[in-house]
Amino acid sequence: MLTYKRALSLAGSEHALMAGCRIHRVPTELYGHHLPARVYGHEAFLCPFLRVLAGRRELIRSWGGCFEVRKVRGGRAISMHSAGLAADLNHHVWPLGRPVVLYREDFDALVEAMAVEGIDNGGGWTRPDPMHFQASELLFREWLASPEKFSSF
Ligand SMILES: [Zn+2]
Repeated sequence: MLTYKRALSLAGSEHALMAGCRIHRVPTELYGHHLPARVYGHEAFLCPFLRVLAGRRELIRSWGGCFEVRKVRGGRAISMHSAGLAADLNHHVWPLGRPVVLYREDFDALVEAMAVEGIDNGGGWTRPDPMHFQASELLFREWLASPEKFSSF
């Protein structure tokens, strides 16, 4: 599982890591459907994440945000949200610390679709965080090697 510390190490510097952060235009089919018109975050994560969501907007019930400089809730490690490499979705129905009960089929479908694009979910963690989606190390390495491939949205 990619961590902020690992991403920083792979990028080589905070400047190189944050170079992927910018304002992303949210696809029109998502704008107004719980998502804001623009989202700030890392293109290694947000480009594929928004692409997946654009085809599955019926699975979105609330937007929990992407970029936020903070530590992991209840921990000391720096959160992946601090580099815009993670976003929270449906936080009201898939709260931190609890296994998914509500909209279980929607959750499974979303996790599977995200996994295909190299995006991990926190639902299977020791302390479940099912609202949390983040870039995998493989996806982040792809961005480091070819950032020009992450230009959409
Ligand atoms: Zn999160």
